[in-house]
Order: sequence, then structure tokens, then C-alpha cells
Amino acid sequence: MTPSADDPLLLTPGPLTTSPVTKQAMLRDRGSREPDFIATTARVRRRLVELMGEASDLTCVPVQGSGTFAVEATLGSLVPASGKVLILSNGVYGRRMATMCRYWGRAHVVLETEESVPNDPEALDQALGDDLSITHVAVVHCETTTGIMNPVGEIAEVTADHGRGLIVDAMSTFGALELGSYTADAVVASANKCLEGVPGFGFAIVRQQAIQNAKGNAPSLSLDLYEQWAQFEADGQWRFTPPTHVVTALDQALDELTEEGGVKSRGERYRQNREVLVSGMRDMRFASPIPDAVQSPIITTWYYPKDSRFDFPGFCELLRLRSYAIYPGKLTQSPTFRIGCIGRVDADDMRGVLAAVRTALDAMGVVDGAPPTA
Ligand SMILES: *Cc1c(COP(=O)(O)O)cnc(C)c1O
Repeated sequence: MTPSADDPLLLTPGPLTTSPVTKQAMLRDRGSREPDFIATTARVRRRLVELMGEASDLTCVPVQGSGTFAVEATLGSLVPASGKVLILSNGVYGRRMATMCRYWGRAHVVLETEESVPNDPEALDQALGDDLSITHVAVVHCETTTGIMNPVGEIAEVTADHGRGLIVDAMSTFGALELGSYTADAVVASANKCLEGVPGFGFAIVRQQAIQNAKGNAPSLSLDLYEQWAQFEADGQWRFTPPTHVVTALDQALDELTEEGGVKSRGERYRQNREVLVSGMRDMRFASPIPDAVQSPIITTWYYPKDSRFDFPGFCELLRLRSYAIYPGKLTQSPTFRIGCIGRVDADDMRGVLAAVRTALDAMGVVDGAPPTA
């Protein structure tokens, strides 16, 4: 199980490196109607709700597919055809929610900030005051496009003051960052990010009232969150073929989250990963477009060095040969790359990737990571 060029550590936005025990949990074929699997599904649903803290009026609705499927099911089912969504956007995932609304012909407005600037609660306050037809606000907790943190607590407060519903895409933070005490109609995440499970389903943690109100809203059969919930409540089963191996793996990964000390301890490990990574990258004069104050412990974004000998595909290949996978950035204005801090990785792995970055720069003849503007 030692990482190699063919099986690198995934320092990416997900899917991520998982533990050997989580992978082993999948070496088993389970029938979707077996009592034992139904019990696993119920346990996973309950444990995911428990990660939200005290709130007892919440239910978990898993949805087959990647995280986007769960976001689409939630947005499409909670917002009625007569509703209107205000989407706070500063990256790919905010823009994707707007695209979903366009597909279904749902009324929406987008409140955009630059990709290196967090969502603006004051502008939201203004917009909700100006447009009383807005029924819901949708926000991305950590915009994984860049790793920027959005002020979800303040946004929840403003939304509640105006009496509108809130949908939070907490895909890349759920399981690692405490969500705070705000109320949301739904918080959406997936099995394969900070929960350190494998890809195959997402889920929404929804308020009972919100799911009960969602009947008949969905523009899609398979992405009808209400019907999915109603089936779980009726007989504990998934509506269509469940990703049995993925559910089993997440049950195991949740044991490991508990063993690690819960969300707080996991967040600590990721924060430590970020500290080591960011300080090592700065020592090599790399610079990030994201200000420190809003830099998540999830993923970091770095400008390409100004040195013309830097070649990103070559850089990636050199890192892969040393058993590290990293991804390009998604910033629209300047070329960047991203290095993640999440998954089954620790500070030693971060020191490892830093050494590999240094070696790769040397191999390309690049003196340091200083960006064009420095
Ligand atoms: C990963 C992610 C998603 C879902 O992406 P998929 O590729 O569909 O899993 C949605 N929102 C955010 C913020 C994410 O990080």
C-alpha cells in the first residue's frame, strides 16, 4: 500500500486518499434488500445527522452519484417552481448551481464576487431587502475552486433575518470544519471528501419541515429528494440500486472519524497540513491569490512561478514520479495549481510533497516559485 507513481497520494479536491481499512471494507458484495445492509444505511444516515451537533429536527437523505447530484436534488426539490434562488458565487460550484437553475427554468439571481473575495453578507442583505420574491439563498461554504472560505454564519444570519430558506453546499468542509450553530434548510455534502470515504453518493442533511414541504417540487425523477426521503422513511431502502460498497466504506470511514476524535480533531490535522504546506511553499517564494484570513485548511491555490522554464504538465509528472498527485487551479484570471490538505494524509506527507516540489523545480532549472507580480 506504499504510494507510487501508479498509486499516488491524492493531494486533490477529491476523490482523496482513503485508509487501507476503508478500502478493505469494500471487499464484500451486499444485497440492497438484505436486513444487514438496510441497518448499515440507517446507521450511516443517523451518524451523518449526528455530525451536525444537537439538532434533532434533521434528517439525512443520501443520493446516488457524485456531490453534484446531491446538490441538484436538493436545490431542485426544496425550491418550488414558483420560488426564486439567490446564489452567492465566487467560483465554479456557485456558478454550477446557477447552471442547474437554468436547466430547470427556475428563477434565480447570482450575487457574484471575485474568486479571491468571499461572499458579501451586506450585499445579500440589500438584495433580499430589494427583492421580496427571492425564497431561498444558496451558498458554498468552502469554494473548492480556490479553497476560499465564505462567511456562512453571517450569511445564515442575514437570510434568517429576512425569513428566507438557506441551502449550504458544504461538500468540501463537512466532517472537518464545524458548521456552527446556524440554521439551514439543507446542508449538502458527499462521501468522498473530508469524511474520507470513497466516491459514489452525496447526501443532504435537511430540516424535517423543509423535506415535508418538498413534495412534488422536483424537476427530475431520480433526483427527487422528497421521494428518496419518503422511501427511506417507509422501509429503510434506497429507491434505486444503492452504491453498496460505498455505503459500507463510509460506515467504516465514520468509525475512523470517531477514533480520530471527531470533526474537531480531523480539522486540526488538516489545519496542521495546511500550516506545513503553506509555510514550505512560501519558503520557496510561491504566492497564493487567496488572503490568509480566508484560506481554508481544505485546498491551497498557487500562482505559477514567473520563471519561463516552469512547465505545469512537466511539473505534475515529476511530482507523480515521486508519488504525489496535484491538480491544476480553476482560477479564471491567472494560471494556478492546487495542492490539497485533506484525505488520509498528514504533516509528513506535506513535508514529502514540499521536497518533491523543490526537486521538480531544480529538475526544470526553475530558481524559485516567485510569481510574475512579486
Ligand atoms: C466536490 C464539490 C462538489 C461536487 O462535485 P462532484 O464532482 O460532483 O463530486 C460541489 N461543491 C463543492 C464545493 C465541492 O467541493
